Amino acid sequence: MNRELFSEKLKKINIELNSDIEEKLEKYYELLVSWNNKINLTSITEKEDVYLKHFYDSVTLSKAIDLNKELTLCDIGTGAGFPGLVLKIFFPNLRITLVDALEKRVVFLKEVIKELDLKNIEVIHDRAELFSKNHREEFDVVTSRAVAKLNILNELCIPLVKVNGYFIPMKATVEEELELSKNSLNLLNSKIEEVISFKLPIENSVRNLVKIKKISKTSTKYPRNFDKIKKNPL
Ligand code: SAH
Repeated sequence: MNRELFSEKLKKINIELNSDIEEKLEKYYELLVSWNNKINLTSITEKEDVYLKHFYDSVTLSKAIDLNKELTLCDIGTGAGFPGLVLKIFFPNLRITLVDALEKRVVFLKEVIKELDLKNIEVIHDRAELFSKNHREEFDVVTSRAVAKLNILNELCIPLVKVNGYFIPMKATVEEELELSKNSLNLLNSKIEEVISFKLPIENSVRNLVKIKKISKTSTKYPRNFDKIKKNPL
């Protein structure tokens, strides 16, 4: 999508583009395509596609929660920074933690943060399985896009959420995963408050934000070790 359309579609979801955001996105895009020649960051490289499928798609998280507050937000398996780094550009008030298991992506993210002079954003090179054991109940909001099935993600991400906070995975199709994740939500003392479904503009593919509220503290049993989770998800 071109600049006008991008700005118009953002307005429709109550987000105002300004020159600071535009400059930062432009630099981010340039770094993404140039680093993508050396390390595998994304299969989407056409400018209009990156703006739609990465930048616009990332900020749709704001449909599920008011991001104008000073929230702590953790993005598990952020890859090249989606949605967490984009959210930082649009909502500088957020305190963001990006987590990814792949070191070269972490190096890329640190470079973008430096080049864009972003504050209150950190990048952690770790596996979610370990990170969530060591950072229990620390974040107001945890999100994750395109990393794992919901029943596995719940077990990895919900321990990180503060009581009364939210885990909001960003999903394409979700129905079957919702059905299979009922047990995990019960065991993790959490419930689905709302599933926000919509279509991405222009290409019209389906998106779902699953708004999961954490009701009470997670048992220290979770997450179990990864092999167990993979073999026998909750
Ligand atoms: N969220 C990004 C990237 C999705 S690809 C996007 O939507 O574009 C999945 C990412 O999750 C990869 O960068 C991979 O390194 C990371 N990942 C996969 N398993 C992980 C784990 N167990 N812990 C941390 N990161 C993980």
